[in-house]
Amino acid sequence: MKSVLAWRVLPVLAVLALSAFALALIGRASSAAGAPARLPDLVQQMPRDLEITRAGTGPKAPYVLGFRSAVSNIGDGALVIEGHRGGPEVGTMIADQVVDRDGAPKAVIPDVGRLRYVVSPDHRHWHLLGFDRYELRRAGQRVAEVRDQKTGFCLGDRYVESGHALQSAAAPAPVFTSRCGLGEPQLLGISEGISIGYGDDYAANLEGQYLRLTGLAAGRYVLVHRVNAERRLHETDYGNDAASLLLELRWRDREPLVRVLRQCPGTDGCDRAPAAKRASRGGPSARSSRAPTATSTS
Ligand SMILES: [Zn+2]
Repeated sequence: MKSVLAWRVLPVLAVLALSAFALALIGRASSAAGAPARLPDLVQQMPRDLEITRAGTGPKAPYVLGFRSAVSNIGDGALVIEGHRGGPEVGTMIADQVVDRDGAPKAVIPDVGRLRYVVSPDHRHWHLLGFDRYELRRAGQRVAEVRDQKTGFCLGDRYVESGHALQSAAAPAPVFTSRCGLGEPQLLGISEGISIGYGDDYAANLEGQYLRLTGLAAGRYVLVHRVNAERRLHETDYGNDAASLLLELRWRDREPLVRVLRQCPGTDGCDRAPAAKRASRGGPSARSSRAPTATSTS
């Protein structure tokens, strides 16, 4: 009996030991390359300022749910993105992440994303693609019913983060304040980012700041905002990259009504049984449903 048990357990132990060894090697390799890296920690803020509008005019213009999105950096270092391309004939820039290290030159993590020059009514500059993602999925389902159509992000220090403890001292003043090459499609390189203690936010119904409601059945949905969804940006913690709301969608006279049932910071699972502290009764955004208006958004 004893030996059977031993044989069942041993291979597992061996695998564990091997992976621990591999991890130790990786750790040593990175520290041998220089001092500890000062990585950012991106934290997805709660979707806010929900607002129902119609995208366009006319009786067939779809209803959309607009929202503010925001991502703060509470980490050990700034998020710094350096874009570059070989020449004007190359349509997109490759984005590298530049990481500060104590007592050592900066480290460059190549190819963490792409930048594209975007021309739209309220945007004419270089966007980092896919930095933040939005989706609506039915409660209890895994696959999204609606995904964002946003063309990207011009990262910057747009507000001072105040709701989270910082891992390091905040930058004394905003550093990333550029408009991401506004009106300069010919640029071959660009720098954008988010400093420690700052965040980057986008108001409801700006380009891509909404999801389509028309076509959705009445019922419960989870609105998920997720930064760094592909985890290509290096961070100290990926556990706070999503935030979600549990919503109830109803239709009255063919107009949508949305009510916030629950707020879930730090998770995409607002339809799962909430931990006691996550349940929110009332709260500022619980009254965020508004009567639909006929404002054009795009
Ligand atoms: Zn933009």
